Amino acid sequence: MLLALLGGGAWGQSLPPVRIGDQPGFTRVVLDLPKEATYTIEPLGAALRVTLPNQTVPPGIHFVTLPELTGYVMEQFEDRAVLILLTPQGVTARSGFKTMILAALEGDGQRLVIDLSGAFVDTSPLPGASGFRFVKANGRRFSVVVDAGHGGSDPGAVGPVVEKAVNLEVALRVRRLLQDAGVEVTMTREGDTAFSLDKRTDLTQRIAVAEGKNLFVSIHANAMVPAHADGWCGLEVYYFGPRNIRPFFPPPAPLEPTPQLALTPSPLDALSTTTQTGGLPTLPGYPALPGYPALTGYPALPGNEPDVLPSSEDRKALPPQNLPTPTPQMNLLRRMELSRTLATRVVSYMLGATAALNRGVRVSDFFVLRYTTVPAILVEMGYLSHPVEGLNLRNAHYLDRISYGIARGVLEYLENDDPLE
Ligand SMILES: [Zn+2]
Repeated sequence: MLLALLGGGAWGQSLPPVRIGDQPGFTRVVLDLPKEATYTIEPLGAALRVTLPNQTVPPGIHFVTLPELTGYVMEQFEDRAVLILLTPQGVTARSGFKTMILAALEGDGQRLVIDLSGAFVDTSPLPGASGFRFVKANGRRFSVVVDAGHGGSDPGAVGPVVEKAVNLEVALRVRRLLQDAGVEVTMTREGDTAFSLDKRTDLTQRIAVAEGKNLFVSIHANAMVPAHADGWCGLEVYYFGPRNIRPFFPPPAPLEPTPQLALTPSPLDALSTTTQTGGLPTLPGYPALPGYPALTGYPALPGNEPDVLPSSEDRKALPPQNLPTPTPQMNLLRRMELSRTLATRVVSYMLGATAALNRGVRVSDFFVLRYTTVPAILVEMGYLSHPVEGLNLRNAHYLDRISYGIARGVLEYLENDDPLE
């Protein structure tokens, strides 16, 4: 018995202490292992389990105060050591962690490096798929408004990407996917423009476009104040509803086997041939728009507001101006219900497509949600202030996945939930 354990090579000698480092946007855990050591890593949802056969650790519970790691547990079994990393953002096979093996800094051992972040997501190329086909809604012609948030003199949030630009990138992709499925799409903008320099007039014009359409989708990216930028990532979708409704968190929708969207070639495909340079994904042909603030230093946000979209005027939710009041197509309660259903479908398919952190379906009184006369949602596709997620939003494959999730959610809503007039 003793010989067998000695044969494992490590009995009686504990591994060196786990090393933990706080990096921008992720936590790095390093295990110094002997050269011959093997390991298995299993995502358990709320924790990541690392099993080390024939190794010895001092059992114990350790608490850590980092956005991506709240603590770790070490357990010793007869033939193996187990390390359990407690991750508040969660881990799945597609998200939450990355690993690599490096040579030891000294000696002939090895380092097992585990990086933890809620912004580690699926950025692989989206597989091509056959066309989406309406079945229940056969024969109906749907009409949708896609609103790329901000534009012109209003950049929105600024980080590794500028919000108005990434909003448009995604809005154009969503338009193509919806059009491929036979949906008529109206854009509130197709370039770096806005209806008006005056925010209220601009937003009023945007929602006016929605009159008589089936639904309105506004596309945004989020940002957090620099002091909290490290800890905030993930996607969320808003609808207008009563205050104080708690967010809820629908599970990811499987992308198969229901009808799939066609991903036919278009000029945008040039953007999908992303090349990685020094680990930083770049968007070839990313629009160089004049007058952008520098890429460092996010605009200061008031208080702890997680979003910079509504500007201060928007926050006050002033009624629209300069246009006749549109006629609601349905009563407010019905519109809220349908908007919530649409938000739920879009969140689920975005999660399915990206494996991003789920910040859920939320209520807000954003202007474009409150005053639109048709079911309306506002998508926050991630925090560009987050050191990792901000880079995700520069990755064309990731934008493809975001766009697919939005379009697929919209199509499933139209197929299953849109009320017959
Ligand atoms: Zn915005």
